[in-house]
Amino acid sequence: MPQNTPSLRELEHASAFVDRHIGPNDAEIAQMLRVVGHDSLDALTDAIVPATIKSPAPLALPGSLTEVQALAKIRTIADKNTVLRSFIGQGYYGTHTPNVILRNILENPAWYTAYTPYQAEISQGRMEALINFQQMVADLTGMEIANASLLDEATAAAEAMTLARRSSRAKSDVFFVHDAVHPQTLALLRTRAEPMGITLQVGTPAEALEADTFGVLLQYPDSFGHIGDHKALVEAVHARKGLVAVATDLLALTLITAPGEWGADIVVGNTQRFGVPFGFGGPHAAFMACRDAYKRSMPGRLIGVSIDTEGNPAYRLTLQTREQHIRREKATSNICTAQVLLAVMASTYAVYHGPEGLTRIARRTHRLAAILAAALRGAGVDVGEHFFDTLHLRNVDAPALQAKAVAAGINLRLIDSRALGISLDETTTREDIVALGAVFGARVDIDALDASTADALPAGLLRQSAFLTHPVFNTHHSEHELLRYLRTLSDKDLAMDRTMIPLGSCTMKLNATAEMIPVTWPEFANIHPLAPADQAQGYKELIDGLEAMLVECTGYDAVSLQPNSGAQGEYAGLLAIRGYHASRGQSHRDICLIPDSAHGTNPASAQMCGMTVVVTKTDANGNVDVEDIRLNAEKYSDRLAAIMMTYPSTHGVFEEEVVEICQIIHKHGGQVYTDGANMNALVGVAKPGKWGSDVSHLNLHKTFCIPHGGGGPGVGPCAVKSHLAPFLPGALVEDGVRTQGVGEGPMVSAATFGSASILPISWMYIAMMGAAGLRRATQVALLNANYIATRLAPHYKTLYTGRNGLVAHECILDLRPLEKTSGIGAEDVAKRLIDFGFHAPTLSFPVAGTLMVEPTESESQAELDRFIDAMVQIREEIQAIEDGRLEREDNPLKHAPHTAAQVSASEWTRAYPRELAAFPLPSLKQSKYWPPVARVDNVYGDKNIMCACIPVDAYKEDVEA
Ligand SMILES: *Cc1c(COP(=O)(O)O)cnc(C)c1O
Repeated sequence: MPQNTPSLRELEHASAFVDRHIGPNDAEIAQMLRVVGHDSLDALTDAIVPATIKSPAPLALPGSLTEVQALAKIRTIADKNTVLRSFIGQGYYGTHTPNVILRNILENPAWYTAYTPYQAEISQGRMEALINFQQMVADLTGMEIANASLLDEATAAAEAMTLARRSSRAKSDVFFVHDAVHPQTLALLRTRAEPMGITLQVGTPAEALEADTFGVLLQYPDSFGHIGDHKALVEAVHARKGLVAVATDLLALTLITAPGEWGADIVVGNTQRFGVPFGFGGPHAAFMACRDAYKRSMPGRLIGVSIDTEGNPAYRLTLQTREQHIRREKATSNICTAQVLLAVMASTYAVYHGPEGLTRIARRTHRLAAILAAALRGAGVDVGEHFFDTLHLRNVDAPALQAKAVAAGINLRLIDSRALGISLDETTTREDIVALGAVFGARVDIDALDASTADALPAGLLRQSAFLTHPVFNTHHSEHELLRYLRTLSDKDLAMDRTMIPLGSCTMKLNATAEMIPVTWPEFANIHPLAPADQAQGYKELIDGLEAMLVECTGYDAVSLQPNSGAQGEYAGLLAIRGYHASRGQSHRDICLIPDSAHGTNPASAQMCGMTVVVTKTDANGNVDVEDIRLNAEKYSDRLAAIMMTYPSTHGVFEEEVVEICQIIHKHGGQVYTDGANMNALVGVAKPGKWGSDVSHLNLHKTFCIPHGGGGPGVGPCAVKSHLAPFLPGALVEDGVRTQGVGEGPMVSAATFGSASILPISWMYIAMMGAAGLRRATQVALLNANYIATRLAPHYKTLYTGRNGLVAHECILDLRPLEKTSGIGAEDVAKRLIDFGFHAPTLSFPVAGTLMVEPTESESQAELDRFIDAMVQIREEIQAIEDGRLEREDNPLKHAPHTAAQVSASEWTRAYPRELAAFPLPSLKQSKYWPPVARVDNVYGDKNIMCACIPVDAYKEDVEA
């Protein structure tokens, strides 16, 4: 081989994914290491991470695969799934994702890499899509207000139960559940009722008439397809001061009377069939709508309309609480990450089809159901009388017919040995009806039956009211119109396709395209969650593999992939602890210690598990106060259930005493819950399962590359040591896919494997990084954070540092001293960053008046420098205020962000130049993001709550004025 020619191996290494995922190259890493004063990544790691927790050996994972190799490997896994025609129903229905939505939302990083819309000015596009969602749900359900998505229908029903309990004036602790709700809904109600002391009574609507309850949950149409008239029941429940919650189906509501019109107080359901594939159970956006009177108590996000400083309408997350979990132990729900991307898809499906299109889809589905019913009746099969899309076949040899259907490539719902369910949907074809008929020995002449068969909707419950009358649902029906509408919306927003999003604790790292590709493969997308196990062998292999990878990364023994978010992972982990204590006769253990720096979901989850939260202190260096923990553990020794601590802490430091803390808790009979949201500082370096922790949740949508989607989807795996494994969430059905991570505990999500269809993302990430790549990612995450902290040290104080003056993977910039000298607060800096084209770091968490910066390993040195330049310029502007060169009230920070309309207006009356407003750095003249609105007025939005689409004349008046 000639001397200067690289070897084959070197050439192959140059195509490694690791170097695409990690931002800085070798030369930049070397230079950045010099800035932070360390010789190598290993030396830096040693200086940061306490020796007591460091892993002695590298991760036992295979070597890294290239993108091409990993895609080829996951292709073979996908091919082990068998996609049959699904008529199973039970809350999941076939749907055609309009291709314009598939490519321009689901496969578009402008949508899927966005963050939760806390920074209103750079989130107007996705908030418009979400307010469309709220309007769509409110219209179809006939309710006054709807939220912007929940995790799944079953958890939404559980939230409805707790909302009813909070809002009802009835004295009872009993919640009545219609015996024809979906089985997964009943499972989740059982999970959530028990720790809160709610008794469930399950029965028929007629039995509900007599029951003494604080609320009732009905399903309409019910799980078996029947459509009941519940008006008398609603009156009876209201007379006893109870509330009525209804689980429903939005497509059916285009044809039948909305629950809000017959008196429902709360309405929940799933929007999956509005263009979101089965995905073996998720992710899909659920919804909740309620009467206006209950809006302050409603869980989840609520988008509202406020105004900006120019008086123009602008969207924002409304109500002071924004999200329930922020109220900590007083929270009524722990929902944080929800299902924004899927809600955007579903609302855009309604925008695309409009009221007529949706009605046509519903009518066609119903016609096919009526035709099939007629054919089956002709063959002597007993089907229901009133239905929308689902037939309930009774007195049949169900297992034999189900097997016959499978042989014909068709999945039916096996209800019991004598009953089957058949649910039709948008994708059902004439050929499907013929094939379904054949299973039952019926010959189907579709057109003849169409002519001779009446509709099967109950005459007294036909929908009369209009819905989706707002112009947004009636103008974007051509593909060009929709394409441009979507582009207009996404252009308003800042997502990771335009800028780093340095949000501390949120780990906004690269979501590589190769990781995303398998998600929309039909073999992963089109499998019903209740498809027989032998059709989902690809999923089994994928899930087994991912569970094993995560076990290796964390040092635990078993991992449940069921939780749909980090907060649901917390809930699952605490339930496992609860189940464990109970199994040892220690049910009285109910105290959960939580340091005051914890994320709000921690106390929220603890109280949902019926635990009492005891908050422990932080010392002056930002560490959890070990003495305070010791005192509380002693004080509550016989009641101690658990400690919940984040590691490294949300203060961005590796506490030295973590091993000792685990020992203290164990000595007093408690369990250690480590919030794993910060695993990006640990993978390949240290394992919580090995230093004494018993359980963690991970956030696959943080550390393991599932994109944040504008606020979801997410996966929050619950990882446990072996003694807790039996208490992990169980499965919905006995004969479904089983993996090591499926336990016998209560279910926390509707589907056994939660949001299964996005698991390929994390699988691909780990496969392409390999053991060495994962460790290097962690090390560069530490380097990038310390590089920012070091470079900004002359300008801003970093609030907390750990050993050797270093931070972990994030740093907290303290702006409180500047507030005193200049009147500029953290929020002003966050808004000014928008003028530089940046998404702000995490604002005022975990410490008020600070910004928490987490760059992640995926940001190149150039991007870090761009951010540092912006922060330095901002510090100079603050200095100018301190020096009197800029006015205290009229300066570019107080007025940030600046819109194009403001800086190009004929009149400019500000006390600083326009150019400083718009182009504070010369580089911005080449590439400039213009926020669509000026700073949004939070107080106005909370005083004037308006959570529906903006009427068109609101804009018209503005133009005329
Ligand atoms: C993000 C986060 C959570 C909650 O995760 P979700 O997926 O949003 O529910 C919990 N704890 C910490 C420290 C976090 O950063």
